[in-house]
Amino acid sequence: MAGITIVLDFDKTIIDVDSDNWVVDELGATDLFNELLPTMPWNTMMDRMMKELHAQGKTIEDVKEVLRRIPIHPRIVPTIKTAHALGIVSDANLFFIEKIVEHLGIKDYFSEINTNPGYVDEEGRLRISPFVDFHTSPHGCSLCPPNMCKGMIISRIQADLAKKEWKQRIIYLGDGIGDFCPSLKLREADFMMPRKDFPVWGLICENRTLLRAEIHEWIDGEDMEKIVIKLIEKIKIQDLLEVDSFKIETVPIALQPVKVHQ
Ligand SMILES: [Mg+2]
Ligand SMILES: [Zn+2]
Repeated sequence: MAGITIVLDFDKTIIDVDSDNWVVDELGATDLFNELLPTMPWNTMMDRMMKELHAQGKTIEDVKEVLRRIPIHPRIVPTIKTAHALGIVSDANLFFIEKIVEHLGIKDYFSEINTNPGYVDEEGRLRISPFVDFHTSPHGCSLCPPNMCKGMIISRIQADLAKKEWKQRIIYLGDGIGDFCPSLKLREADFMMPRKDFPVWGLICENRTLLRAEIHEWIDGEDMEKIVIKLIEKIKIQDLLEVDSFKIETVPIALQPVKVHQ
């Protein structure tokens, strides 16, 4: 029997937009954002944007209100509810993600959320810091932004899964450039689901031979649901066939048709 762990990116994978851009745009700070963007790393800039918005009188309640309105495809929440072990790997921040998944009623479905720390300080300003402190301990991966290497996180998840009794398989879903590095860490028995026509899909199309995992592209939430369910069933059938072929070696019985329940 295999265990299945589904690892999802957050922005433009679980939700339909980028949460950072959404908050900045909805709070009317797009011009300042565009001005600052070329001058510092994205993650550092989001902390700075929160400082500017706070100075303009935008409260943490204003931020929460904007997060509650974030667009999400109607099939994503049901998909998450049908899946097994789930984790998030995201370059957004913990405050945004927690508020959104709490609001959607799916927080308890995730066994882990790997993202940049975010907390509200005593002045009511959201502080965002890097997942990896790139001044003291840089991750050294040239594919990833300085504050986060998602490949490093996947390697850690793989090491944790290796301690389990059953064989473990990963289904990874993502859309962005940052999802390319983790896709290279996946193994033959794993599945990579890049969002079609998004940056990681382009990178995978150009570098297909570098990936060991089976690749299944998806378009939107409806498509994602269908493919995730199909892959879970496929894994279950492969499991049963493996068990049966083991039986055949020891006891000569015919293969029975296999019924798979979700
Ligand atoms: Mg994304
Ligand atoms: Zn990396």
